[in-house]
Amino acid sequence: MRESSYGNHWNGGSMYNFTGLLGKGAFATVYRVQTKKEGDIYAAKELDKRRFIKNGVLDMKFDSELNIMKHLQHPNIVNYVDCHTYSHWIYILMEYVPFGELSQELRKSGRIAEADGQQITRQIVHALDYLHRRNITHRDIKPDNILIASRSPLIVKLSDFGLSKCVTDQETFLKTFCGTLLYCAPEVYPDYASYKHGSAQKRRRLGEPISKPPPSPYDQSVDMWSFGAVIFHMLCGKPPITGRGDDRGAQMLNNIMTKDVDFKPLREVGVSDAAVDLIRKLLNRNPSLRPKEAECLRHPWLRNVADVFEYDL
Ligand code: ADP
Ligand code: MG
Repeated sequence: MRESSYGNHWNGGSMYNFTGLLGKGAFATVYRVQTKKEGDIYAAKELDKRRFIKNGVLDMKFDSELNIMKHLQHPNIVNYVDCHTYSHWIYILMEYVPFGELSQELRKSGRIAEADGQQITRQIVHALDYLHRRNITHRDIKPDNILIASRSPLIVKLSDFGLSKCVTDQETFLKTFCGTLLYCAPEVYPDYASYKHGSAQKRRRLGEPISKPPPSPYDQSVDMWSFGAVIFHMLCGKPPITGRGDDRGAQMLNNIMTKDVDFKPLREVGVSDAAVDLIRKLLNRNPSLRPKEAECLRHPWLRNVADVFEYDL
């Protein structure tokens, strides 16, 4: 049955009209929908439930993540509004964020002025603080998942959390993971290396100690590294770790395992010492030495920046 030109299988029922395509991620398509009665606009994220099925049953984690998300409420986190199921499709209705992804902004303008960077950083640090206090690790902090809600004042919202880690099919997992590689904390890499490169010989070639135990996947400090990499990218115009060519993934892995992050590119474009200092602290290889949110907010680069919202600290 296909009653709508948008949305795969659900036509919005009696409540919504599908009015456009907003974006496509590694495992979901997001549509713009409008309520039939009031004309309010929302975003509807369409997911194929079959991708979350393990041994014939829906992954418990998927359900619990969805429940967590329904209860999150923060000015810098995309609000989840409602959820509809139609056959094997799930539609998560959420607040509509009108100005696109931070990644699009970076592609358009190269890099972002430091004053805007400070505002974005404070807001995302507040969002991370809110999540981490509730023992939720985002695990996919990257410019594609930071959406722009307003330009003046500049307001950003963190989106797309929780669900990607419940995906059970390996192809999607790999796709999601590759997209994130640029911002991924080094302690997460051994997992990826063993997944992609399988053999111990190849892992050794990547400079990885093969006896290293797998890290705890829920350590919140992985988000702090990723966000450090995002701030680096925002202010510099390119991420701290890159790779080239067909073997880009392996090269990036190699770089992060064997090379120190080079902070010169930040200085070359005139980024302040205070900003470089915070980024350097966040990009610490030792997860336990990365600053927590409160420390970031007290840092000289951020402490005098006025918040747009009043936060409960
Ligand atoms: P995936 O989990 O597949 O990466 P996302 O949740 O990141 O999916 O959504 C894919 C894209 O859809 C986003 O990168 C963004 O461009 C767009 N999008 C997602 N949520 C919203 C929203 N609430 N408002 C506007 N656009 C959105
Ligand atoms: Mg995404």
